[in-house]
This record gives sequence, C-alpha cells and structure tokens, in this order.
Amino acid sequence: MNELQLTALLRGRCEAIEARLQAACRRAGRPRGDVTLVAVTKTIPADVAALLPALGIGDLGENRPQQLWHKAAALAAPVRWHLIGHLQRNKIERTLPLVHLIHSVDSLRLLTALEEEAARRQLAIPVLLEVNAGQEVSKHGFGSAELPNLGSQLAGLRYVRIEGLMTMAAFEPDPERCRPAFAALRTLRDRLRVQLGAAVRLEHLSMGMTNDFEVAIEEGATLVRIGTALFGDLPLDRP
Ligand SMILES: *Cc1c(COP(=O)(O)O)cnc(C)c1O
Repeated sequence: MNELQLTALLRGRCEAIEARLQAACRRAGRPRGDVTLVAVTKTIPADVAALLPALGIGDLGENRPQQLWHKAAALAAPVRWHLIGHLQRNKIERTLPLVHLIHSVDSLRLLTALEEEAARRQLAIPVLLEVNAGQEVSKHGFGSAELPNLGSQLAGLRYVRIEGLMTMAAFEPDPERCRPAFAALRTLRDRLRVQLGAAVRLEHLSMGMTNDFEVAIEEGATLVRIGTALFGDLPLDRP
C-alpha cells in the first residue's frame, strides 16, 4: 500500500471516529470541544504517525517513553505528545521537554521526582494521576481509597500541576460494564476537588479507549485514548 492509499484509509478511519465522538457528545449533551482525541500510535511506525497531523490529528499518545522520544524526533510537524504509560524516574529528564501532558503519574515517588526536576528547570508540569481501577487491568496507579489521603502532599506541589485523573477500564465485551469504573473516577475527581479547593483544578478525566470511549464520554471523559479503532490491522507491507 502506498502513502496515498494509506492516507486515504487513515482519513476514513479518522472520519468514522470523529462521527462517533460527535454522536457521543450529543448524547451526553456536551460540546464536541470538551473532548480531545488522543491517537495512540504505539502500534504504528513513525512514518505512518507522521501522516496524522495533516488529517487534523494533533494529539498523539505513546505508552513507552523511548517510543515517544523516537517518534517525537522523527515527526516534522508539531504535535502534542501525551505519555500514557509508566514513566521510570530515570527517563524524566529526557521526556519532560517533549510532552504536552503526562497521563500516567502512578506513585508519590514519581510525583516527587517530577516536582524536583520541574523546580530545577523552573517549569510548570501538567500531569494527570493514574488511578488503578482494580481488576488487575494495570499494575500501576494510585488506589482510589489512597488518593484522598494524599491531599496535603498534592496541594503542596508548586511546579507539578495536577490537571485531572486517568484510568483504564478492564476490557468488557459489553462496554456498558465499564460505566461504573468511569463514573467512579468522576466521583473521585469531584471529591478531590472539594477537598483540595481552588489550588488544584482537576479539569481532565482521561478515560475511554477503542472499546469503551463512547460510554466514557457519557461519563465525563475530556481525553479519550484511541489506538485500535484508528490503526488496527493496517496493511503495512514494509520491511
Ligand atoms: C494502548 C493504549 C490505549 C489504546 O487502546 P485501544 O484499545 O487500542 O484503543 C489507551 N490507553 C493506554 C494506556 C494504552 O496503553
């Protein structure tokens, strides 16, 4: 498949997802502008990811820092990179200058290390806290019972800006079954907001993937992370 054919195929998939995003926002009574599509490029090579900005996709996500470094260096067009997977502390320095938003801050240790690096650089760093939805979906993340106990530590951050929460629901053949996990993340966010006050805005909920993004939007997602619906089974006959 040549680049023209591949672009046409990707354009069709982007349009199909866009139509579903719009329909979900309509059902939820929310403006489409409330929800950002983060295209998860972890399964495609950098030269395919490079076709996306011209299709109107400006937010790209990677779950491995090294892949993010690699693709960020390879793409000429400016895009907003989202780190959606575990960040090891020894990769903070190289990752920070490249990312628009880290969705996956999963421990107090990482939060503290980010605060130190941000202070050193005198930079504000926007992050989301990853919440482990249980069910062994992810090895990483804060427990939802744990977060409210960290109030004073969270409110004390000067450089790291906590802009919201992220979670991954378990795969369910019926996405309706993901709804309680998404509603629980929103409830936790609302509770933390009251507890932490104006210092922490928590405007974002990063939740929803290919299988369940429509339900997530109905439950308040502001960032949906979609990979398979855009890039699954692409006919990439490359060496
Ligand atoms: C891979 C990945 C996604 C995308 O999942 P799809 O089901 O392929 O849409 C979303 N979030 C995270 C954290 C991921 O690792």
